[in-house]
Amino acid sequence: MQSNKKLLVLPGDGIGPEVVNEVLRVVDWLAKKRSVTFDVEEGLVGGAAYDAHGTPLTDETLADAVDADAVLFGSVGGPQYDDLPFEEKPERGLLRLRKEMDLFANLRPAMVFEAMAGSSTLKRDLVAGLDILILRELTGGIYFAQPRGIEDLGDGTKKGFDTNLYTTPEIERIGRVAIDLARKRRGKVTSVEKANVMMSGVLWRETMTTLFSAEAEDLETEHMYADNCGMQLVRYPKQFDVIVTDNLFGDMLSDCAAMLTGSLGMLPSASLGAVDEVTGKRHALYEPVHGSAPDIAGQKIANPIAELLSFSMALRYSFEMSDDADMIDGAIERVLASGIRTPDIMADGMVRVSTNVMMDSILRELDNVV
Ligand code: NAD
Repeated sequence: MQSNKKLLVLPGDGIGPEVVNEVLRVVDWLAKKRSVTFDVEEGLVGGAAYDAHGTPLTDETLADAVDADAVLFGSVGGPQYDDLPFEEKPERGLLRLRKEMDLFANLRPAMVFEAMAGSSTLKRDLVAGLDILILRELTGGIYFAQPRGIEDLGDGTKKGFDTNLYTTPEIERIGRVAIDLARKRRGKVTSVEKANVMMSGVLWRETMTTLFSAEAEDLETEHMYADNCGMQLVRYPKQFDVIVTDNLFGDMLSDCAAMLTGSLGMLPSASLGAVDEVTGKRHALYEPVHGSAPDIAGQKIANPIAELLSFSMALRYSFEMSDDADMIDGAIERVLASGIRTPDIMADGMVRVSTNVMMDSILRELDNVV
């Protein structure tokens, strides 16, 4: 049956295909039990694309990604590709997708299921039930702006320098994504910069202040310095809902927030582009934070939850299906509470299962709610 929901699936390398295939069982489940069908197309990326076509991303696959409503990505890379020339390395496939789709907004949720609160390095009470979102500007700022370089000073020393630069439209577009996301969540936005010491931070705060009063009167909004935000994340993380920040601070704060959750196999992410003025849709790529895990690939023990949570984000942010996303997140929560664990999150007294038995258990929980 034709559907109006185009999902391009790019499993990639290593455990990527293992976890993506498990998530496709949930896509089938939605079709059978909820009558929601997706037009699923599959493509090659990373080492798999290099093996077949001599490039980590073909122009055809890129065109399919641009055309899709959402891309569900697995992971790329592996030791067999380490000696390839830079431009042919598997990771270049992902970077090209991000660049060509202009995915400027990177979403990294930090969610802690009650049953997993013991795995965090913070006290259980601080993180149990945590659900916050770090929104990082991904295509501007200090990692890209000019001038940058290393110059010889002629006296036997050198200087290395970078530029942190943001324009009003760049700040506004990431601010609008934050507003949009907060409306789909608990309605709070914290904008983070260093306006006390950086001019780019002064402009960031001014622009966000104007944007919030013009377009986000219905939300709770606040501003915070980045160093304080780092401290608050480990002091009392539940005070946040959506944190929006620049490329550099976002890089650090999202890793800091990820550690609150304690497990790489459970962390999803999304990268979003601008809204198309004609269709109202935005380019979007959903992927787990973890890589291709060559050390466990082929052993059928990879944790599929990060990939499934990435798909759940796609339902929430690309397909207006928050109820189904909640249902999937709830099923994962109950499976974890029942003590089922893949080896990466195994603990005393729990039941160790394989990748597909983890998904069997999640599907059984889903069956119980429809
Ligand atoms: P990794 O995330 O692949 O693995 C780190 C550790 O976490 C490994 O011990 C692995 O077994 C474990 N792990 C990761 N995901 C898991 C899961 N779902 N279930 C259970 N255990 C899991 O990082 P790495 O080892 O540094 O990199 C391996 C390859 O992946 C490299 O080629 C790297 O370039 C690539 N990589 C790709 C991406 C991506 O595709 N976005 C991201 C990071 C790394």
